[in-house]
Amino acid sequence: MTQVFNFSAGPAMIPTAVLEQAQKELLNWQGQHTSVMEVSHRGKLFMELIAQAEQDFRKLYNIPKNYKVLFLQGGARGQFAAIPMNLMGKKGKALYLTSGHWSLTAAKEARLFCHVDEMNLLEVGDELKTGNLDFSDISPNYDYVHYCPNETISGVEIFELPKVGNTPLVADMSSTILSRKIDISQFGMIYAGAQKNLGPAGITIVIIREDLIGNARQETPSIWNYAVQAKSDSMINTPPTFAWYLCSLVFKYLLSQGGLKAIEQRNQDKAKLLYDYLDNSTFYHNNVAKKNRSLMNVTFTTGNDELNSQFIAQALENGLQALKGHKVLGGMRASIYNAMPIEGVQALITFMEKFEKQNQ
Ligand code: PMP
Repeated sequence: MTQVFNFSAGPAMIPTAVLEQAQKELLNWQGQHTSVMEVSHRGKLFMELIAQAEQDFRKLYNIPKNYKVLFLQGGARGQFAAIPMNLMGKKGKALYLTSGHWSLTAAKEARLFCHVDEMNLLEVGDELKTGNLDFSDISPNYDYVHYCPNETISGVEIFELPKVGNTPLVADMSSTILSRKIDISQFGMIYAGAQKNLGPAGITIVIIREDLIGNARQETPSIWNYAVQAKSDSMINTPPTFAWYLCSLVFKYLLSQGGLKAIEQRNQDKAKLLYDYLDNSTFYHNNVAKKNRSLMNVTFTTGNDELNSQFIAQALENGLQALKGHKVLGGMRASIYNAMPIEGVQALITFMEKFEKQNQ
């Protein structure tokens, strides 16, 4: 088989070693002569699986004891609604820091449930660049502050933490989760859909400080109520067991690769290779300021829609899949999540050089 590299933004690549293990165990999981999909989620073996998965995930991020980890459904978008339902308190207001499509969408959904103030983090200019991130003067007016550390569509990553004093900071980490080390204790809550760095679509991870659980508005549906989910091992209804299982394999795999320190280094090496190439090229352009360049989603364009389309089509013929940028932005996007080997980035650059020579 010709080698292909999949640059999809999500659902995205899953490490080959994980897929091979799942394949090996598919018909006979844990000696049960049945697959993991066909056993009770409350059975001993599955309960052991989820306990181990949580332990491994906690180890990867060094999650403090006063944080709960929930494995929910409904994707990140489900959380856009669950967050205000659960975290809205006496102040009745939330601050949404926006930096692109997903943070804006989160703010729009939250407006269904509470008063939302929005602040654009991006400065006016040709480049996508964040400005001042100190909100400690206004944050006491809000029940929580929400932001998106990595905007998947534009490739804007915010490495610095917004300053919000003692107000809980809530982060949509859908496309940056497990890509680099973070200090969990700086956050009130973190959430992420699984389909980029954790596993397949269908499961959503929530990491939440315990004192923020238990204040949901009364009419909150049970499946969205963090207190109910925390009390019932994230199993108030039947969970997506196969997705959970695959996530458990991904966590084990990441630990075997040296954990987040090693993963972060690899991600930095991959991103540097691609951004250095883009910086040295006059043919391709990336419009994200250096300090905000995403390690996971690298956007670029030739500046010409027709050439971009040819690039995407010819890249595909060369085994480089899913390089089309998101429809709201156009151009190209290479998503280089944890599972993308450096060889994939090298192959992309080789193709980009060839395409540039042919079309200059
Ligand atoms: N937030 C971010 C940063 C995303 O990248 C996405 C999906 N690409 C979402 C939210 C929405 O996720 P879901 O489809 O799981 O609801």
